[in-house]
Amino acid sequence: IVFCGVHFMAEAADILSAAHQQVVLPNMEAGCSMADMAAPADVHVAWRELGDLFGSTEDLIPVTYMNSAASLKAFCGEHGGVVCTSSNAVKVLEWAFEQGKRVFFFPDQHLGRNTGHAMGIPLEEMTLWNWRLPAGNLGGAAPEQLERSRVILWQGHCSVHQRFTTTQIEEARERHPDVQIVVHPECRYDIVQAADAIGSTAYIANYVAEAPAGSVIGVGTEINLVSRLAKENPDKTVFCLDPVVCPCSTMYRVHPAYLAWVMESLAAGHTVNQIVVPEEVQAHARIALERMLALR
Ligand code: SF4
Repeated sequence: IVFCGVHFMAEAADILSAAHQQVVLPNMEAGCSMADMAAPADVHVAWRELGDLFGSTEDLIPVTYMNSAASLKAFCGEHGGVVCTSSNAVKVLEWAFEQGKRVFFFPDQHLGRNTGHAMGIPLEEMTLWNWRLPAGNLGGAAPEQLERSRVILWQGHCSVHQRFTTTQIEEARERHPDVQIVVHPECRYDIVQAADAIGSTAYIANYVAEAPAGSVIGVGTEINLVSRLAKENPDKTVFCLDPVVCPCSTMYRVHPAYLAWVMESLAAGHTVNQIVVPEEVQAHARIALERMLALR
């Protein structure tokens, strides 16, 4: 499998693929800055501190967004947790709350907060864990705040979705009074509240496709997807809310030249850039992924 995506996706493909299959990533530098915000050492420190505070981690369920390293998925699998996507986050959190009192959500604080809010969890019961602080600081939260929290949010974010602002939405509404605003749940809470619709990439694509001809739609997600949707829906005005095009700096590192290089190497009998997730990591990560797949 030659996987033209980012590192964490190729890892997931390796975990879920059959034993005889190999996964190749054309450029090993194609990563995700959000996934990199949850290093295993920081996660273990946080888990230990929360276990000490609560007396145990029995009632704390780790949930990680798909956009995370295999090691974090494995951590979740090993500790009774699960993986989610932006499409099934509500369903996954409902499952998690059946398993325990609190959820520790990695690595995207915005998806965690927006999902919790959609489920009726008050913002005061969702607390941010600042992993950049030195160990021993409870991620910058007061013990009593953590005690009354139902969701603890890892302080990670997507560099692309974090760029959207409410000013952009206001300007879009001024320019186009009949505009519909649809955004991805990786956007900040205030953006999601100001939008008309919120949903995963598939939801956004569907939203645009099903809008009547002549619709004006402002989209809060990654620019290349928005450009594709604009092209596929010539009877509608589809534009990105962020006028300054700033694509993800890591996601686009799989260029045709890299793809050609790995394909030529494979044709010559050499496997290059193979993604190999260690067996122990695979075993635990598979548990978390399979729990998610069983919820679909
Ligand atoms: S756009 Fe880039 S930083 Fe954001 S989730 Fe995707 S790969 Fe990660």
